[in-house]
Amino acid sequence: MALSSYRTAAIPFHTFVLKVHSRCDLACDYCYMYRAADQGWRDQPRTMSPAVVAWTARRIAEHVRAHDLRHVAVVLHGGEPLLAGPRLVRRAVTEIAGEVGPRARVHTTVQTNGMRLDDAWLDLFGELGARVGVSLDGGRAAHDRHRVRPDGRGSHDRVSRAVARLATGRHRKLFAGLLCTIDLRNDPVATYEELLRHRPPQIDFLLPLGNWSAPPPGRVPGQSDTPYADWLAAVFDRWYAAPVRETEVRVLGDLVALVLGGRARGETLGLEPVRYLVVETDGSVALDDTLRVAYHGASRTGLHVALDSFDEVLRHPEVVARQSGASGLGALCRACSLLRVCGGGQYVHRYDADGSGFGNPSVYCPDLAALIRYVHRRVAADTERLRRRAGVREGCP
Ligand code: SF4
Repeated sequence: MALSSYRTAAIPFHTFVLKVHSRCDLACDYCYMYRAADQGWRDQPRTMSPAVVAWTARRIAEHVRAHDLRHVAVVLHGGEPLLAGPRLVRRAVTEIAGEVGPRARVHTTVQTNGMRLDDAWLDLFGELGARVGVSLDGGRAAHDRHRVRPDGRGSHDRVSRAVARLATGRHRKLFAGLLCTIDLRNDPVATYEELLRHRPPQIDFLLPLGNWSAPPPGRVPGQSDTPYADWLAAVFDRWYAAPVRETEVRVLGDLVALVLGGRARGETLGLEPVRYLVVETDGSVALDDTLRVAYHGASRTGLHVALDSFDEVLRHPEVVARQSGASGLGALCRACSLLRVCGGGQYVHRYDADGSGFGNPSVYCPDLAALIRYVHRRVAADTERLRRRAGVREGCP
C-alpha cells in the first residue's frame, strides 16, 4: 500500500517503555526478547546508562511540551527491570518527573517477573509513586511450564509470594495487575480463578506471540477451528456472569466496549492508533517489542534519543501505518464486517515472511471473529433484556 494513502496527522505518543535492563533472571521458553527471530538484545548494554536516562527524560518532556500533553505513562521494562538496581530506577523516575515538571502527570508502572520484588523494592515504588505489574501464568503447573529459571527450576513459588506481598497490606495500592500468557493446556476458568485469588485490579490475558510464518501453539494457519476463542469465551462467561465485577479483564472489557460502539484502551483490538514507543538500554528507539518475533531488526527505527525527537519517530513509516486506522490494514481486513471491533488484531500477528509483511489478517483471525461474535451475542442479549425491562417499567401505571 502506498504511504500516501495513509492518514498523515500524527497522534502523539502517550506511553514510553524504557528498557532499563536488557537481560533477565528467568529463561521463559516463550520470551519474545531472547527466544525470537530478533536477537538484537545481544548487542544491547545490560543497563541503561545515566546519560541515556537523561536524554530520554528530555525527549519525553519535549514531547509533552510539543503536544501539550497532560498525562503520559512510563513503563519500566526489560529484560527484568529490577536487575537495573534501585539507584537507576530512582534516577529514571525522578529525572523524567523533573524534566516534565508540573505540565503533565507522569504515571509510572514497573513490569516485573516478580523474582526480586521484595519489601525494599515495594517501599521504593511507594515512595516514587510507581505501580507494579507482575507476570503470572496461573497456578504452579501452568506457570512453571514456561516461566523457569536458567537452571530449569520453576519460579512460581517465589513469584506468587511476591504477588501476595504486593496484593496485601500497605503495598496494595501499588498493584497494577497481572499479565498472563494463554496456554491452551490450562483450564481457562481455573487459570482465571487462580489469578483472581490475588484480587488484581486488572488481568491482561495475552495471546501467545506468533505469525503466519511461525504460528502460535495450537493455531494452524488456514484452519477454521477456534481454540483461543473457546478459551477466552470460557473466561468471559465466568467474568461477565459474576454478580459483582471482580476485576478488569482487559481484552474482554475492550471487546464489550467495542461491540457497544465504544473504544479500546490499546491498539490490539479496534482501530486505535499506536501511541507508544520503546527506548532500548543503548538509547536507540524501537517500535514495539513484540515485533521481535517477526524478523531480526523488525522493531528498529534507526533513531536515537540523543539525536532524534519523538516527533521524528511519529514520522516513521510503520508508525504512520499504525496510526492510520483501516487504511493501514490489508484488503481482507478492510472488507471484513468485524473490522471496527477487531481492527486486524495485534500488529505482529499479521506478519508473513512470504513478502506480504504485515498486510494480512491476524493469524488468529478465526479466533478473533468467533470471540467477537460470542461477546456481541451475549452483550446484545443483555441489552435487549434491559431494554425490555425498561419498556415494561415505562408501561407500568
Ligand atoms: S483479522 Fe480477521 S476478523 Fe479481524 S478484521 Fe481481519 S479479517 Fe476481520
